[in-house]
Amino acid sequence: MKVAVVGGGIVGLTTALKLNSELRNSNITVLAESYDDLVSYVAAGLFRVGHTYSGPTEEITQKLIHDSYSYYDEITKNYEPIQAGVGQSEAYMFSNFSTDIVQNKLMESVVPIYRKATDEEFNLIGKNHKYGCYFKTVVIQCQHHIPWAMNKLRAEGTNFMIKKIKSLKELADDYDFVFNCSGFGARELCNDKKMIPIRGQVIKVHAPWVKATFYSEIDTYIIPGVDGSCTLGGTRNFETFKKLICPHDTKSIRERCEELLPSLSKAQTLKYAVGLRPHREGGVRIEIEKISNGRGKTNVVHNYGHGGYGVSTAPGTAQYAVELAKDYHKSSNSKL
Ligand SMILES: Cc1cc2nc3c(=O)[nH]c(=O)nc-3n(C[C@H](O)[C@H](O)[C@H](O)COP(=O)(O)OP(=O)(O)OC[C@H]3O[C@@H](n4cnc5c(N)ncnc54)[C@H](O)[C@@H]3O)c2cc1C
Repeated sequence: MKVAVVGGGIVGLTTALKLNSELRNSNITVLAESYDDLVSYVAAGLFRVGHTYSGPTEEITQKLIHDSYSYYDEITKNYEPIQAGVGQSEAYMFSNFSTDIVQNKLMESVVPIYRKATDEEFNLIGKNHKYGCYFKTVVIQCQHHIPWAMNKLRAEGTNFMIKKIKSLKELADDYDFVFNCSGFGARELCNDKKMIPIRGQVIKVHAPWVKATFYSEIDTYIIPGVDGSCTLGGTRNFETFKKLICPHDTKSIRERCEELLPSLSKAQTLKYAVGLRPHREGGVRIEIEKISNGRGKTNVVHNYGHGGYGVSTAPGTAQYAVELAKDYHKSSNSKL
């Protein structure tokens, strides 16, 4: 039984981990064009899923988020934050525009605490807001979590290859199942024009004194990781393909974040980064497609298009994708 996972980002690796735990005696290979140039490495990695995120149905969407949270929460119980890159976290969202911005039905039923901010908490930042909420969540810092996941997979016998796949049909001769976790690469690989880039620029700084996440207007956020670093953001440019660092964005991010938390003016810059959020119109694609190249045929399980919430929701979509393949096997008697 041979299974390929295309993609070495958070979605590909959580899918491979799920496959290892569900399919004994199978031979799993992760194939990726790159293991370094990942959108996952740009993300701050706060577990927060916005209103715009959608899976196949509302019910499934809620399950994906719930399963993802349980997965990461379990990791925090068994590993030190710096070891696995996952830690408990506290977050505040503030807005002057509407209470809808700070409320979040998708999150409220999943995280242990989600409530209105107190008067005292409104004063934690150097700017006035009308609406605010506080929630407990987790943070997944991919700089630590991805190497941890790769080491775990290697120890379980998973193979890794660097390879750009031009067509999924290339894999039909060699693999019984292919999980397509190619993120924004799916736009080209599947000719999926529903895949739209949402460019985001961030600054990674050293600021170990920042203990909580703060979100405010104009996509301004300050998100501490697990190692004393902090992600400052951000931008959200719809249908922008350029990954160059924009100096105007850099200046604006610094100004907006320092207005919220003046102590950030002494935070040393570690890195500037840009990523294209793999947004998909209509929601994340998790479905099976049969493909054939004339000689061989295989079943592709698509799992891509997580937009700005892929670090949060990858484990839930991985579980759903693997269950989909298992159900398909039961009904069609294919090889899984
Ligand atoms: C600024 C910013 C902040 C963010 N903050 C958060 C956050 O706080 N929380 C959150 O949940 N999410 C956040 N996100 C979103 C998150 O980063 C993405 O949803 C997630 O990383 C997508 O993961 P992925 O594995 O699909 O993609 P990637 O990490 O990009 O991995 C894609 C993989 O597929 C491979 N690939 C692509 N095409 C091919 C091909 N043809 N052949 C072989 N391999 C291929 C690539 O080489 C790569 O290995 C943020 C994103 C940005 C840009």
